[in-house]
Amino acid sequence: MPPVFRFAPSPNGELHLGHAFSALYDHALCRQAGGRFLLRIEDIDRTRSRPEFEEGIYRDLEWLGIAWETPVRRQSDAMPTYGEAIDRLRAAGLVYPAFMTRGEIAATVAADPTWPRDPDGAPLYPATDRDLTRAATEERIAAGTPYAWRLRTDIAATQAGPLSWQEDGAGPDGESGVVVARPERWGDFVVGRKDVPTSYHLAVVLDDAAQGVTHIVRGRDLFHATAAHVLLRRLLGLPSPVYHHHRLITDNTGRKLSKSDRATSLRSLREAGATPDDIRAMIGIDAALADRA
Ligand code: GLU
Repeated sequence: MPPVFRFAPSPNGELHLGHAFSALYDHALCRQAGGRFLLRIEDIDRTRSRPEFEEGIYRDLEWLGIAWETPVRRQSDAMPTYGEAIDRLRAAGLVYPAFMTRGEIAATVAADPTWPRDPDGAPLYPATDRDLTRAATEERIAAGTPYAWRLRTDIAATQAGPLSWQEDGAGPDGESGVVVARPERWGDFVVGRKDVPTSYHLAVVLDDAAQGVTHIVRGRDLFHATAAHVLLRRLLGLPSPVYHHHRLITDNTGRKLSKSDRATSLRSLREAGATPDDIRAMIGIDAALADRA
């Protein structure tokens, strides 16, 4: 069976030079491995996803010379699958309804400068809802209070036992080879959002399994999220892919590129006359691939 690679952009803005690096790097590694290349549209965020951005993804990737298999998987088509996974986690007692709003979380943690934070710098969820009685929880749900499903991460991690993944690229601190996963660093992370029956973490794990993905090539900004993915995969009994986290393209102040910055969008660069070869040179993709070879 050939290895299966995927590129999984979110259609909530124009692709930029960072996406070009990721897609070209991923595609080149796939070809070197004689693999299949899949595309997935990560559009669970219904308020930010737009059809014109999805069209833009196809146009930009084609322009860069990337070919993918069809049909393309779209996360918005897979909601029932995500909902079933949440039901399984509920049945196992591993998730709970979490009612706090962003404002309430911020107010709770503001009082304590030592409040623990996740690897992205966000405060861990103050897991007070875990202690609500069943009756109190049901009363709030019946009153229409919006809630997310959050994982009881400590219990889930204990149940899962030691977790690790194979890293063929490198993490922010040079981590590579067999990396020990520490999902508890994310606290009780969301598996089902208030508006949709999934979260990025849950959807990505279920989709990679549904698409038979064996190799995940993506930016180093998602390195730490892998611990949450490895845990969910173990809980749901899904197979383990190999990871390759690659370096990020940054602006001249060293910051990660953002979708709101027009200057680095592939569309604006193309409209200003850049060719795919110019893009390759701007992101140093050929040198990055030669380094690896
Ligand atoms: N959709 C994510 C993004 O655009 C990528 C997810 C992944 O590769 O796992 O950043």
